[in-house]
Amino acid sequence: MATLVTEAVVLHAFDYLETSRIIRLMTREAGIQSVLARGARNSKKRFSGALDLFAQGTAEIQVREGRDLHSLASFEITRARPQIARDVGRFTAASMIAELALKSSGDEPAPGLFDSIESAFERVAASEPSETIAGALAGAWYIVATLGFTPALDVCASCHTALDPAATVAFSHRAGGALCSRCASLAPGSRTLPPDARSALRQWTSGVDGPIPGQSEGRAHQRLFREFFHEHLGIEHELRAYRVWELGEWSAA
Ligand SMILES: [Zn+2]
Repeated sequence: MATLVTEAVVLHAFDYLETSRIIRLMTREAGIQSVLARGARNSKKRFSGALDLFAQGTAEIQVREGRDLHSLASFEITRARPQIARDVGRFTAASMIAELALKSSGDEPAPGLFDSIESAFERVAASEPSETIAGALAGAWYIVATLGFTPALDVCASCHTALDPAATVAFSHRAGGALCSRCASLAPGSRTLPPDARSALRQWTSGVDGPIPGQSEGRAHQRLFREFFHEHLGIEHELRAYRVWELGEWSAA
């Protein structure tokens, strides 16, 4: 049995039998891994806390060749991120980020993707309650950019003509971004993207803090990201945590 020591974030966790937990981890060295933490609910020493969601640390995994479920020997937490659980907006946003991570990662090493997922959790954890949507959108778009799906924003996604930064343009998920007016007339079903929203996408996909959108802009951004993610990641089923995040925020507003 080989031992893998890697930095990891807890994306999903549920109790198993009397004392154990099954955890899905995003690891730096081996992508998504499912592990059984035996005695996790009793042993504070081996598993600081009970492996809470979104906690990050160093995982020691005993890899069982040919199996999907490995053994977690220890988990030393370096960042617990308790502030996520203290605010429902942060919690639903972090759950959405965890869902995106699970949908977009395999079990191969992906250090860049690990970094973008880590930074998304950091942004959400550090967001004021009124700013969690912006923090989560920034994190989510940077994950998509790391995956190689940055939308075209400054040139037409179809004919590559330069676009005026001050113009309101059409945005086509299928074409992969903003369109010039000529290509837009040939692309039914595209969204309208005002210059402020395009500027926000430019910042978020570069990993930079963008503006804090107002309520209706925030909703439009949530919808735009969901549609884009479905189109480019080939996701057919509804993203459940995403739906909770998207609906929860504005029904509470
Ligand atoms: Zn064009």
